[in-house]
Amino acid sequence: MTVPGAAATDAFGRRFRYLRLSVTEVCNFRCTYCLPNGFQKAGSMDFLSTDEIGRLVCAFSGLGIGKVRLTGGEPTVRKDIGGLIARVAAQPGIDKVALTTNGWNLSRHIDNWVASGLTHLNVSVDALERETFRKITGHDRLEDVLAGLERAQTLPLKAVKINAVLLRDALNTDFSAWTEFVRYRPIAIRFIELMRTGDNRAFFEDQHVSGQILGRWLEERNWTPRPRGRDDGPAIEYCHPGHAGRIGIIAPYAPGFCNGCNRLRVTARGQLRLCLFGQGGRDLRDLLASDEQRSALQQRVADALAFKPASHALHAADPGDIMNLAQTGG
Ligand code: SAM
Ligand code: SF4
Repeated sequence: MTVPGAAATDAFGRRFRYLRLSVTEVCNFRCTYCLPNGFQKAGSMDFLSTDEIGRLVCAFSGLGIGKVRLTGGEPTVRKDIGGLIARVAAQPGIDKVALTTNGWNLSRHIDNWVASGLTHLNVSVDALERETFRKITGHDRLEDVLAGLERAQTLPLKAVKINAVLLRDALNTDFSAWTEFVRYRPIAIRFIELMRTGDNRAFFEDQHVSGQILGRWLEERNWTPRPRGRDDGPAIEYCHPGHAGRIGIIAPYAPGFCNGCNRLRVTARGQLRLCLFGQGGRDLRDLLASDEQRSALQQRVADALAFKPASHALHAADPGDIMNLAQTGG
């Protein structure tokens, strides 16, 4: 079992260095696979405060966490997101502060966020064609998002990546628009296999396509998978001698996907979730009111880790109790 002050590990010897922290459940987009009817208010909107987040991250860094990703919902609908980035970046031991965003206000704020300590940025872009983007997200903002992305690439960030959900419609239409996009841009686009959640069953059945099919499509066009490093995330990245950028595939349905799990999740209401697709969470919020509770908080996380399951059960069509990824932080 993990003890406070030591590295966080679980019963399967997996070591956790990476915390994905949801800072809000609210989102301004209506992505077809996530919140097709938009964000619906449920319960109080009492999400973790900057002080609570500072204490939480400080306690996790004492357990060996060095990277924190702020996600949601849409993390940048929080007006205090710049202050949150700064607070996380100020915690000892945290050397990577990442943000996953739909990019709606990126061009206006990215300079400030980087100045506040942001080191890694993932922007979700599900289509490169204006009307398709509007249909998927409910917003005619592709141009703004791409402008923000371009600005981000000029700033001293350690990594800027694009996330896109792999949808059957996209693969069946003009997929080569994506490879053209990275011909001269040195950026990684990571396609995430569509995941089934409680809310999207019919959509999933219509649009899910295995990452293997995209892998074959790429290999037929001379893209080759890169050898994986020890601390690499779950993406298999493909490169091509004629292209500056890379195409990655994240395939949570592939066998063995969970073996290298290195991440923990905390929801915007302060619940530790051991697996994105698990049942329930362990409440941490009662231990976030003061700095004096840090050891108790670390002990609670360490105790909970012993119960982290070996794998999700998505392959058995069991997405756990999660209704959509905006609820727990994707
Ligand atoms: N709103 C931000 C965004 O869209 O980047 C952050 C939160 S969103 C839940 C995080 C990531 O999860 C996004 O890249 C999104 O495309 C992805 N996502 C959401 N629902 C998904 C699903 N059912 N299957 C696969 N990826 C999903
Ligand atoms: Fe919002 Fe992100 Fe979900 Fe799209 S994927 S609805 S942007 S939380």
